[in-house]
Amino acid sequence: MGNFEAMEVECLHQFGVASRKTDCRGSFIKLTWFRDLKDRIVLTDDIHIQILVGVRYASHTFFVNGKFCKDPMLVVAEDFFKHVDAGNTTNKLGSKVTPVSVNELFGLNTLGISLARIDFAPRGLNPPHIHPRGTEIVIVIEGTLHVGFVTSNQNNGQNRLFTKVLNKGDVFVFPIGLPHFQLNVGYGNAVAIAALSSQNAGVITIANAVFGSTPPISDEILAKAFQIDKNTIDYLQNQFWYDNN
Ligand code: MN
Repeated sequence: MGNFEAMEVECLHQFGVASRKTDCRGSFIKLTWFRDLKDRIVLTDDIHIQILVGVRYASHTFFVNGKFCKDPMLVVAEDFFKHVDAGNTTNKLGSKVTPVSVNELFGLNTLGISLARIDFAPRGLNPPHIHPRGTEIVIVIEGTLHVGFVTSNQNNGQNRLFTKVLNKGDVFVFPIGLPHFQLNVGYGNAVAIAALSSQNAGVITIANAVFGSTPPISDEILAKAFQIDKNTIDYLQNQFWYDNN
């Protein structure tokens, strides 16, 4: 720890913390901070905003969730606006996620919310994945989806699957951090809108992370973990793991 204790930082409009004394939307964001091993100041507020790193004392500027603040005099309506078209589902998975997170819409900075449009071709799959920083609530706009999530390890050694077939207008929740999926089981295309309780919920696509990492995980590890032979692991690791996000 350095000379500072947890400090209250006045937020600069929706664009986060520009300095400790900057005017804002009238609310305070409490940021706890510490110094990392490289003597950078690291700020955190809550689970909705990932750890953020600011350059020490550089013009009193901090990153908020990795995003710079914008001078409030330069903010325009376009900073809060985004248009989303249907995603191209011509790929191995037959699905496409079009995120609207703080990475695409800077006006979301510090607000703890984002969304995604998910397009599905017939039998298109949004494969099992995790959002490490956000709960997801999804509504089906078009088509029929078989969705589900699996709980974390339970005392009895089980992981429970909660699954449902959703039709147009149906809503389902995927709790933060749990593996979940959506499969288009209808005859036509399907469209879903997902809202996420983070400006930057993050995505870990399980198959991609396990079999498509760079560099690859040792096949000894994966063969034992998945209870299959190394040749099968090697085969899987040689596949192209398409990222539909
Ligand atoms: Mn999801």
